[in-house]
Amino acid sequence: MKAHDGMYIGGAWRPPAGTDTIEVVDPVDERVIGRVPAGTAADIDAAVHAARAALPGWAATPPAERGAVIGALRDVLAARREEIAETVTAELGTPLPFSRKVHADLPITVAGSYAELAATHTFEERVGNSTVLHERIGVVGAITPWNYPLHQIVAKVAPALAAGCTVVLKPAEDTPLVAQLFAEAVHEAGVPAGVFNLVTGLGVVAGQALAAHDGVDMVSFTGSTAVGRGIGATAGAAIKRVALELGGKSANVVLPSADLTKAVTVGVANVMSNSGQTCSAWTRMLVHASHYDEAVELAAATAAKYAERLGPLVNARQRDRVRGYIEKGIAEGARLVAGGPESPREKGYFVSPTVLADVTPGMTVAQEEIFGPVLSVLRYEDEEDALRIANGTVYGLAGAVWAADEAEAVAFARRMDTGQVDINGGRFNPRAPFGGYKQSGVGRELGAHGLAEYLQTKSLQF
Ligand code: NAP
Ligand code: MG
Repeated sequence: MKAHDGMYIGGAWRPPAGTDTIEVVDPVDERVIGRVPAGTAADIDAAVHAARAALPGWAATPPAERGAVIGALRDVLAARREEIAETVTAELGTPLPFSRKVHADLPITVAGSYAELAATHTFEERVGNSTVLHERIGVVGAITPWNYPLHQIVAKVAPALAAGCTVVLKPAEDTPLVAQLFAEAVHEAGVPAGVFNLVTGLGVVAGQALAAHDGVDMVSFTGSTAVGRGIGATAGAAIKRVALELGGKSANVVLPSADLTKAVTVGVANVMSNSGQTCSAWTRMLVHASHYDEAVELAAATAAKYAERLGPLVNARQRDRVRGYIEKGIAEGARLVAGGPESPREKGYFVSPTVLADVTPGMTVAQEEIFGPVLSVLRYEDEEDALRIANGTVYGLAGAVWAADEAEAVAFARRMDTGQVDINGGRFNPRAPFGGYKQSGVGRELGAHGLAEYLQTKSLQF
């Protein structure tokens, strides 16, 4: 894997201000595969200055032209699809077919959607005797995690650029190589100098400096609720716009009339995907008492089939954290029916696909985000009970409902406190707004709603 030893600032790779580096590790075999510079406040300051200098020109560029540049970026990403997949596989550990289909193709699709939306979005509207202008917020500080490393970058950078904003990105320390590849693609696509800038580094150093910088008008963050809370407080104190995509503990509600086999097998697949490192995963399966034992048996058998296919977790800390949750679940009275806390391999950060049965709503594993291949199966007595359990966490990012009748599933979904619900296995829609109720976040990403996050309004009266 190619690693740059500089920061991409103002349209060029520049030497970092300091000398510290971050090791990039392959989570499959724990080998160091590269080193990137650990940015400091000085690097962030240089990047924010470059973004501010580029802002007037980019904001004044007609939206259709901005869309054409984003389209060129999409094309470069598409041309480099295989390299993207290999890079994500190397630093995140996901199997190559999944890296191609999801980690490479999804951001290509999202970039394409913003190439189109930039050209077609309503940036000006008439309200009575006023003309309302939807104008760019300004300089955006984007802070992204490692679990969908390129998707989370594109889901911020593409709409920000479409809106006329300029960006400074601080990607996750575990997956900086695909972020550097993205910066190369930005350059190759002809995005004007300073419109996009990259500073690799640690969250507590570079991320903190970016969130707190006076020259940043908006902070867009995806990651843990704990860090998001701090970033929200920093942004609030400075009266900055903030968008937060945080954790989840989503419910997969299997109503008694549902096709149980389909609901359970798709539900298990959803949790095991990306080794369970998905904020919107349906990590709690809710099954009616009358079908409970059958569902548990099926979930355990389905999970076991993933043992050979699952990639590792991203790092040793995440692996240990997830194993700790499995142990805690068992200690609090859950019944282990598949997987377990033992290491399935000698090398690499692997965790076995795990199913915990007899989980009750008050248990830690039913309340906290585990971020690993661990499914909790809960029992409910009636629909009101199911709703109480489904809504009974601090999170509200996603969810699923299964029923024989679509209208029955929709009626239940309307009562769920969550930002997304898949009805009978509905497909992911990369243009539908994505984001959380309650502590799962503030704001929405993707599609037109994601673009609107990067705009503010100005009213002209006539
Ligand atoms: P995290 O610490 O919240 O990391 C997200 C991003 O924020 C990374 O770029 C991180 O940098 C940066 N960051 C960390 N501390 C910061 C600070 N004080 N100021 C500014 N930026 C900061 O998440 P994590 O440590 O990678 O994962 C921990 C847990 O978060 C997971 O187990 C999971 O529960 C949750 N998570 C959720 C999502 C999601 O999509 N909702 C994604 C990832 C993780 P570093 O890379 O240097 O830490
Ligand atoms: Mg962290």
